[in-house]
Amino acid sequence: MKAKPTFVISSSDFVQFLQAVMAERPVIGPRERADQPGYYLFGRLERAEDFVAEYGTTTIPPKKAFAALKEKLFTFTLDTPPVLNRHFETFPFVLLGVHPCDLAGIDALDHAYSQPPAEVRWAGGRDRATIIGLDCRPDSYCFCTSLGTESNRIPCDLFLTPIGEGYLVEVHSEAGNTLLKKAKTRKPKKEDLAAAEYWRKQKVQSIVQKFDAPVKDIAGIIEAGGLTPVWKETAERCYSCGSCNTTCPACFCFEITDEIDADLHGGARYRTWDSCQLLDFAVVAGGHNFRGERWQRVKHRWQRKFLYLYRQFGRPYCTGCGRCSRACTADINIVDVTNRLIALAAKEE
Ligand code: SF4
Ligand code: SF4
Repeated sequence: MKAKPTFVISSSDFVQFLQAVMAERPVIGPRERADQPGYYLFGRLERAEDFVAEYGTTTIPPKKAFAALKEKLFTFTLDTPPVLNRHFETFPFVLLGVHPCDLAGIDALDHAYSQPPAEVRWAGGRDRATIIGLDCRPDSYCFCTSLGTESNRIPCDLFLTPIGEGYLVEVHSEAGNTLLKKAKTRKPKKEDLAAAEYWRKQKVQSIVQKFDAPVKDIAGIIEAGGLTPVWKETAERCYSCGSCNTTCPACFCFEITDEIDADLHGGARYRTWDSCQLLDFAVVAGGHNFRGERWQRVKHRWQRKFLYLYRQFGRPYCTGCGRCSRACTADINIVDVTNRLIALAAKEE
């Protein structure tokens, strides 16, 4: 890969840079939750100082900047044509501080949502965004090295690596180059590049969770079958709460519902994130549920992430972020379950 132009920006100049950007357009970035100190979320930054550079993985991924958890699509009445909800479709914004695995999640959804018929709202949000990536410190749930996303830079415009009192900034697009003109930067010295390299090495060395087989082999393992004991054991602990999907940066299923006004004269149609782990996800007309058993839904989740979408799009729909494992109240860990599948398949060979 061709080396990208790199610069150094000091921490204080970065604050000034952010202030200049925020004077021009909204910046959505990681900030500490007021109600839960030590936890972080992506939200609009009111002040440049609210940006937290070393944040732990957020519960909800930054994809929410392009696809809201619940979104009004249009309103309707009995006697007028539907009115599309377009209020969000105008302003450019910056999405700041996106970790490499979450960039991979956005890239995965870019791919999925661009399949015909393309999902126009996602594309509209993406067109308005300039994305600034940021390197991270993994925690005990991260396993990005098993998915090859630890150094991912797609699709960011600028990418920051902390180097002590500032950042090494890689420029990945013309939009990033234009944005960076607002910043006071300097050329990197040898020690700046060494500091960034040290950060990356430390990061990779600190990742403890790993798949016991290359991710490309998992599709074949699932396809070969004979894994029902693992699906059933996992399902015995699962509550079918759906948190694993609704926190996932690579899940993209949604539900469409109509809410009717109290006077029954009109209403609105909404789109909300959905989860294949919920009991009624696969209910069809007539009331039949073709994944009515919990173990069938657990199996479907793995099939979807590592088999169907892998075969269809040539990539797993998992980025190794570990959110599903962090969020699971039953302590079901995606790496543990996958490694049990790998072990069972190896035993049966
Ligand atoms: S978060 Fe855990 S308990 Fe809830 S559906 Fe997912 S695996 Fe099951
Ligand atoms: S399946 Fe789990 S680890 Fe993989 S991207 Fe989704 S939330 Fe992250």
